[in-house]
Amino acid sequence: MTTQPFVSLKGIGKRWNGKLGVEDVSLDIPEGAFVALLGPSGCGKSTTLRLLAGLEIPDEGKIVIDGRDVTTSAASDRNLSMVFQSYALFPHLSVAENVMFGLKVRRVPRAERLEKLKRALEITGLTGLEDRKPGELSGGQRQRVALARAIVAGQRLCLMDEPLSNLDAKLRNAVRKDIKKLQRDLGITVVYVTHDQTEAMSMADIVVLMKDGRIQQIGSPQELYSAPVNTFVAEFVGAPP
Ligand code: ADP
Ligand code: MG
Repeated sequence: MTTQPFVSLKGIGKRWNGKLGVEDVSLDIPEGAFVALLGPSGCGKSTTLRLLAGLEIPDEGKIVIDGRDVTTSAASDRNLSMVFQSYALFPHLSVAENVMFGLKVRRVPRAERLEKLKRALEITGLTGLEDRKPGELSGGQRQRVALARAIVAGQRLCLMDEPLSNLDAKLRNAVRKDIKKLQRDLGITVVYVTHDQTEAMSMADIVVLMKDGRIQQIGSPQELYSAPVNTFVAEFVGAPP
């Protein structure tokens, strides 16, 4: 029996005034997978993620999420959450208000909001910090608030664009483990953009290596390392010659 992929990109292309973003991007993602979009700066990782999120609409190709063609659907209609490098927190709101913001917008009842908040803060290790403002937190704590906000949304698909790149090396390691644990515990599907091959290789079930707007190889970290399809892949993942 073949199960259909949870997320599917089919022949996606995007350009702006002739300038290439991505070309012929095709990718199937099973539910519950951790997928890393990896590659050097400007290779089209964020564009791919933004197309998946509905923040851009492709010129060509098709996007299917959970059996639904969402190629031209609004971002708000795609049942996914996003975590950005910049955290995108409201500086004047408390941790609790930031985490519950989306729930309030969606008019989720207060008791349910508080219940979800409690659980999300437990999962992200932020219990006790609910009244702080983002300015009173460390970078790692701020990124955990952004993660908590993505969790309370309760979506099965979470997109992350270089969520650790503003953190120092030590914190990066800690939050990396948190994200991985969260993804496993909640059983959610994560598409994770990074230019850091160590991050991708240590976190992902499936690595998608891109260059100049095109996918070079899709495979497990082990596959990319032991059977790179070209010298670019071999050199990028540091495979032995
Ligand atoms: P990455 O995230 O891998 O660093 P991006 O997806 O941001 O790369 O960019 C891929 C290419 O598309 C780059 O050449 C970039 O300049 C271009 N690009 C991305 N967004 C836009 C845009 N809104 N307008 C014009 N060009 C863009
Ligand atoms: Mg980017």
